[in-house]
Amino acid sequence: MRGVKRLGCLLLCAALLSGCGTPSRSETIFAMDTVMDLTAYGPHAQDALEAATAELSRIEALISAQREGSDLFSVNAAAQSGGEAATPVTEETAALLARTLALCADTDGALDVTIYPAVEAWGFYSGDYRVPAASDLEALRAQVDYRQVAVDGTSVVTHGQKLDLGAVGKGYAADQVTALWRELGLTSGLLNLGGNIQCLGAKPDGSDWVIGVRDPAGEGTLCTVTGQDMAVVTSGAYQRNFTQDGVTYHHILDPATCAPAESGAASVTVIGPSGLICDALSTALFVMGPDRASDYWQQRQDFDMIYYTQDGDLFYTSGLEGRLTLRDGLEGQMLTWKTAGS
Ligand code: ADP
Ligand code: MG
Repeated sequence: MRGVKRLGCLLLCAALLSGCGTPSRSETIFAMDTVMDLTAYGPHAQDALEAATAELSRIEALISAQREGSDLFSVNAAAQSGGEAATPVTEETAALLARTLALCADTDGALDVTIYPAVEAWGFYSGDYRVPAASDLEALRAQVDYRQVAVDGTSVVTHGQKLDLGAVGKGYAADQVTALWRELGLTSGLLNLGGNIQCLGAKPDGSDWVIGVRDPAGEGTLCTVTGQDMAVVTSGAYQRNFTQDGVTYHHILDPATCAPAESGAASVTVIGPSGLICDALSTALFVMGPDRASDYWQQRQDFDMIYYTQDGDLFYTSGLEGRLTLRDGLEGQMLTWKTAGS
């Protein structure tokens, strides 16, 4: 990732906030190729911020595919040979990859951790954007297949595939930081890791967090959602893209075509207890498009989502009833569980 180079050198601000009598510390850093805002409340707030910053750079050094010396860098270097390769990694990376591969299978490949060569071909790592030729896309499709990758103990076995954890890394990092904060005795904190929001506990006054979801069409807010101890993760076509010959190409790729997903989604927000799962699903549900996404929710029913389509339709799952406030003039449709026979 381009931002890897900038990690550690940028502390944009470290401000002492005061509010409601609860001490708080807030900091903005650049890590994992994105701007991150961290806010911790309570007497251990400063320790919590320092621990969080160290944890985020540790995770980046472990799983960034672009960072020399990372576990993923080693796996991808070994995959270069094209044949079967078994690369030893840390237990942590092995566990994260095993969880991610399970989510690739569960989403029927809408999430595919072997998307690396396609992301590279479109120039999303280097920033040197280009539209690959049709023949290149065909060749890429043969390289992208998570089913060719396995985790065997602490070895990652590949058959020429290169891995990218960009779709889940920030969610995983948010889970790790909130777990650390809990260990430090924090009961209230808020992370915004480049659009991946994660709340620890409740607001310092005990009330629900109110999280805004960005309108993909502009800088305004599409809606707000309330809750506690939750991840609110959005994947949108607006987050990273380039325009060539009047066509805009975004960074969420459909593994079936190796091109930007054209599923009808404008932005997908997933809400649930695990940052990793919400991050994986926001990307996968974006790729699936609204119909497949609502079928998938019917099957799992263990997360909530706000699905906003390119046609301006918004639907949300029933767990969000009473927790959602839509922007003026926007109407939403609630998805409810279909029980057998209904
Ligand atoms: P963001 O990182 O912008 O918040 P996502 O969580 O949706 O957005 O992740 C997008 C990133 O994941 C891309 O930059 C790319 O590295 C990778 N990626 C793109 N499409 C897929 C996909 N279908 N499956 C897995 N990873 C993907
Ligand atoms: Mg994601």
